[in-house]
Amino acid sequence: MPYPKPSRRSWAEPWKVKMVEPLRLTTREQRERAIAEAGFNTFLLRSEDVYIDLLTDSGTNAMSDIQWSGLMLGDEAYAGSKNFYHLWDAVTEHYGYKYLVPTHQGRGAEHILSKILIKPGDFIPGNMYFTTTRLHQELAGGTFVDVIIDEAHDPAREHPFKGNVDFTKLRKLVDEVGAKKVPYVSIAGTVNMAGGQPQSMGNLRALRDYCSQHHIPIVLDATRAVENAYFIQQREEGYKSKKVAEILKEYCSYTDTCTMSAKKDALTNIGGWLATNDQGLYEEARNLVVVYEGLHTYGGLAGRDMEAMARGIVESVDDDHMRARVGQVEYLGQHMIDWGIPIVRPIGGHAVFLDARAIYAHLPQCQYPAQALAADLYVDSGVRSMERGAVSAGRDSKTGEERFPKLELVRLALPRRVYTQAHMDVVAESVLHVFEQRAGARGLKMIFEPKYLRFFQARFEKV
Ligand SMILES: *Cc1c(COP(=O)(O)O)cnc(C)c1O
Repeated sequence: MPYPKPSRRSWAEPWKVKMVEPLRLTTREQRERAIAEAGFNTFLLRSEDVYIDLLTDSGTNAMSDIQWSGLMLGDEAYAGSKNFYHLWDAVTEHYGYKYLVPTHQGRGAEHILSKILIKPGDFIPGNMYFTTTRLHQELAGGTFVDVIIDEAHDPAREHPFKGNVDFTKLRKLVDEVGAKKVPYVSIAGTVNMAGGQPQSMGNLRALRDYCSQHHIPIVLDATRAVENAYFIQQREEGYKSKKVAEILKEYCSYTDTCTMSAKKDALTNIGGWLATNDQGLYEEARNLVVVYEGLHTYGGLAGRDMEAMARGIVESVDDDHMRARVGQVEYLGQHMIDWGIPIVRPIGGHAVFLDARAIYAHLPQCQYPAQALAADLYVDSGVRSMERGAVSAGRDSKTGEERFPKLELVRLALPRRVYTQAHMDVVAESVLHVFEQRAGARGLKMIFEPKYLRFFQARFEKV
């Protein structure tokens, strides 16, 4: 194919490569063996057997030379490490909360928060569930209630802010159970399970008004809030000329508390935090972190990891970084759209989500079409993706019935600053090949099912 004459000026990443990590190329036979040994679960593959790893954007980021040099400045004191204070300053400056408790990763913060705020019998409304978030809410005795707008459940529906809360659904819940039984509203921006879709500033502002009237706090899952801020800049009236950093701070200002997986936006390989404006909650979290994570000035992390996080936060709110980060996801997703491959629209912030229900339309959902598609993609090219459908949704905690969500997706998550545009071309072409072979695809049967978060360790065989 001849190279098309460019009709525009291209953008490129605001960094260059200083060190490379060789990748192993495998044969189709090797990959067929590897996926069978892994029980057709991409989580159970050895990373050595993977060529391009799009399993997750969690902890897979490439750190900058500034972050790496920060590792050498780790102050590994048990208490009062100077890196903790650097982290404190970075979080309070860029996210705007008053108090900070570091945790080893996001779920550490979710655990502590759920234990403090949720009583058995409570209901926690949120803009779509996240696996670990909901599990901690349930383990604390709460019930998660989805109050996201309907558009979020329809992969083909275009909407600039599919992460928005539907106030009719929220009002209905609060009217039914009473505000006293709603310890907080659980908000994520962007919404991972909806396909990395953002929430608008207007929607969160309106939620703030509603929650203030009913004395219900808002807890933000800030894992990808910087990506959310970038989408607000691109799509929402009145934010074009504002910096991502400014938008992030305004966004967080409408919430009371946040939990964070720093393994995503904050450009690190490990880390997380709980941050809040509520002094009482802070005191309790400081108490519990000692039980479950470590002292309140390290929360299960080494001093050097806190330093990398503090520096990563500063880099993550840079407009040029975000442009390249989300731009790469859009580059990959646009290939799928151009080639007629069904994906979640619009393209999300951290990943391209293939609509496995549409691609493998001949497979019933009880044969886990998304799990099967992820396995087939791996066999085709060594590209590792993951299932976000019935396997991830698990079972209802009360009835034990399998949940069959409307979204049956395969996620191609892009690690930040790791792969090149050429890697994206290889991925796109492999997806196209699997798409063209779809008529011959077979479903899967689950032969081993763990009790919690089954998608991580479940095993399958071909039906
Ligand atoms: C990854 C993630 C979490 C959990 O964080 P971990 O660091 O993996 O424990 C919570 N919420 C969202 C939206 C996530 O993507």
